[in-house]
Amino acid sequence: MAARRHTLQGHLLLLRLAVSEEPLWDEFWDMVSVLAIGLPIVVLLIGFAGYAVAGQALQPVEEMAQRARKISAERLNQRLTIQNPTDELGNLGLAFNETLARLEKSFEQLRRFTADASHELRTPLTAIRSVGEVALQNSGDSVYYRDIIGSMLEEANRLTRLVESLLTISRADAGQIQLERELINVLDLVQESAALLEVLAEEKQQTITIEGDAAISIAADRLILRQVFINLIDNAVKYSPAGGLIEVRVKSVADEAQIEIRDNGPGIASDHAEKVFQRFYRIDKARTHSEGGAGLGLSIVEWSVSAHGGRIELDSIPGVGCNFRLHFPYAKQESPR
Ligand code: ADP
Repeated sequence: MAARRHTLQGHLLLLRLAVSEEPLWDEFWDMVSVLAIGLPIVVLLIGFAGYAVAGQALQPVEEMAQRARKISAERLNQRLTIQNPTDELGNLGLAFNETLARLEKSFEQLRRFTADASHELRTPLTAIRSVGEVALQNSGDSVYYRDIIGSMLEEANRLTRLVESLLTISRADAGQIQLERELINVLDLVQESAALLEVLAEEKQQTITIEGDAAISIAADRLILRQVFINLIDNAVKYSPAGGLIEVRVKSVADEAQIEIRDNGPGIASDHAEKVFQRFYRIDKARTHSEGGAGLGLSIVEWSVSAHGGRIELDSIPGVGCNFRLHFPYAKQESPR
């Protein structure tokens, strides 16, 4: 309300002007009631819409989770379905699928290894049992029983060697083998290893010759390196015919120590050359089993050489012989001589 005084021809006038506030208040209360009813509805609507949109966006995640839940050790060949490989979710799914592929490969290797190992263990066990059963059914003199015990012990030895190889492989796979490096004179170690196989070679009238640079030393684990030489020389003795020649040569080439183990046996055809380094791989299973091999020797050699930072190569001409060549790099502080 506004009021003002005026004087008109000597008279005092009081002018008062008033406007009703009621319409304003009415409008105000109308707005309040619209807001009071409308706002919660709008908030609810936005909430529902957000929920629906988020649900739709997360649907692929839910699908992936459900599929992932169904993947078990027996179903490792299953993969997540990826709708869009270029977005973040697709990228995550791809990484998950790649992990699954690696897991599947490892499981498959493990499964094959267990099956092969069981098969190899069963053979000498069956032999021991059947030799024992036959001996129990027959009766004989002491020479007969000595023979039986002898062949049982032979099988037991084969079993021991096999179990030792299996242990080496599983410890190597588990990363449990720590190399204890020391400076080793290569020629001395080759001679020491060959001496252990001298008797076997003599039985087959074979000759083992060792020559090379007596000054070459490398930093290696003595026991592991010795096993490498033993495995390779043993193979040369095993697979070469009677009267064969096995030559071991030690030399220094550039910044590597090179050891060659050469025989004049049957050799290895090129289609087997790569595979002989695989576990349980034997070229002629019938021939080699009678000689005691389970096909693990060369795989252990390959692991041992690469654990030392080296490599192994095989040159072979079928009918002429094999040449296994080992390369060991010198460590920085070592020198070839
Ligand atoms: P094994 O225990 O059977 O000897 P290896 O892994 O040492 O197993 O060798 C794998 C296969 O490679 C052997 O079974 C044999 O067939 C072949 N082999 C290895 N060394 C020789 C060799 N010096 N001459 C001919 N064949 C060989």
